[in-house]
Amino acid sequence: MMTTTTSRRIFVGGLRRRLSSSSEKAVGNVAIDRSGLGRIGYSELSEELKRYKEAETPLGKELINQIKGRGPISLHEYMRKCLLHPTYGYYARPGAERVIGMEGDFITAPELSRVFGDLVGVWLVSEWVAMGKPREVHVVEIGPGRGTLMDDILRATKNWPEFRNAARIEMIEASSSMRIAQQKTLRAEPLDERVWTVPNNTAVRSFEETRVRWHDSLDELDELSSPTLFVAQELLDAMPTHQFVRTPMGWREKLVDVDDQMESKEYFRMVIAPTHTPASMMLSKAPTLAKFEGGKDGDGDANDDDDKKCAEVSPSALAVVGDVARRVAKTGGAGLFIDYGKTTCLGDSLRAFKRHKQVSALSEPGLVDLTVDTDFAACSRLAALVEGVGVYGPVDQGEWLGRMGLEVRLTKLLENENITEKQADDIIAACERLVDPEQMGTRYKVLTLADNKTHQVPPAGFLPEEHVKPPPDDNSVIAP
Ligand code: SAH
Repeated sequence: MMTTTTSRRIFVGGLRRRLSSSSEKAVGNVAIDRSGLGRIGYSELSEELKRYKEAETPLGKELINQIKGRGPISLHEYMRKCLLHPTYGYYARPGAERVIGMEGDFITAPELSRVFGDLVGVWLVSEWVAMGKPREVHVVEIGPGRGTLMDDILRATKNWPEFRNAARIEMIEASSSMRIAQQKTLRAEPLDERVWTVPNNTAVRSFEETRVRWHDSLDELDELSSPTLFVAQELLDAMPTHQFVRTPMGWREKLVDVDDQMESKEYFRMVIAPTHTPASMMLSKAPTLAKFEGGKDGDGDANDDDDKKCAEVSPSALAVVGDVARRVAKTGGAGLFIDYGKTTCLGDSLRAFKRHKQVSALSEPGLVDLTVDTDFAACSRLAALVEGVGVYGPVDQGEWLGRMGLEVRLTKLLENENITEKQADDIIAACERLVDPEQMGTRYKVLTLADNKTHQVPPAGFLPEEHVKPPPDDNSVIAP
């Protein structure tokens, strides 16, 4: 009979021989063969089951393999892959720019009316003036979609040549398909490997071509030394989120699992993690949510509001807002976040859209738009914690556009003699949609932040009483 020592030596020896050619990694003198991990639990779903289900997408197949092999994944990971998987992601696949617009899956404010971009342009110039007209100002747009907003901003600011000569445009875009679309919309020409220029095609020749750089993520934007103005329009709602439910044991994370039952059309379903995950551990430390834990908020019984039973936290959205605040504190400047959202993080707001219709959130991974409400309370609390930064809002989009002079801008547009009556009606209808409380006017909100040194007054379109006080302690960033 072989001794244990002998058998271990033979076992380890056998593994060592194979180590050089495989994905195994040695841990001391024990080796783990990881090459088979991807196949553990993997089983092709039966053809019979597939007949009951919707058509499988390439990303769906990849996710099924991953989940069958390694277990359910967080909603954060599911969303991130669905939206930004380099080949199959909703925003990354070829032709992704077509999802935005009347013919696509959803419409956004700049795609509805150029008046929106005009007013964001006015905001940028106002902030530049408020900072004493610095000779160089970086204008950073995060998540620019088809590039329509920046195109409108550049057109709207052509009468401020001093601003245009100062402006360095930085486009932060995670999707290469979107980046190409933006370069086309702006008619940008590459100057060298990193810098593009937008030609000055206007009659006003008093400013130079505008310099534009593209970056994959905010992390890639170098630490700038001149004042910086940030704009993020409908970016935060596209950032992945975690979801948690309140159970008698406390907050537990919702995970995405494979649904191999014939009852539902989708290949995926939500399940509740049986124990804590790293994300739910983080959440349970937030004191303001702890009071909603079962047993502490009186009970956690079935009579509690449904929306107190689910919480969403998007660390990705918070990271963007936090980084913008930190950068603004360092260089001077301001940031503007426009999105739909709410001022509480309780409730399940995950939705999916295809051709302007709401569809099941777990259907057709990579082919439907996934979106959540922006948690403005958490974003503003986080930004307010950054020293040297003032945070204001959020205010309703309709209100903010009104304060920025929407009516004056609209009247100017309508004064153009060359427009037909039908065109005038369309322009008015689009603006109404932006401000109407029943439409985008109140569902969309605007949050701003600015450094305290260059800004003695709140950024344009905000009032001093809309200032957000920093939370009493930094644990309450995640708060109902
Ligand atoms: N602002 C545009 C587009 C909104 S759609 C408009 O209002 O029309 C969201 C945009 O953000 C897309 O361009 C998408 O590719 C981009 N995006 C999504 N996640 C991102 C991330 N993490 N970093 C940078 N861009 C991102």
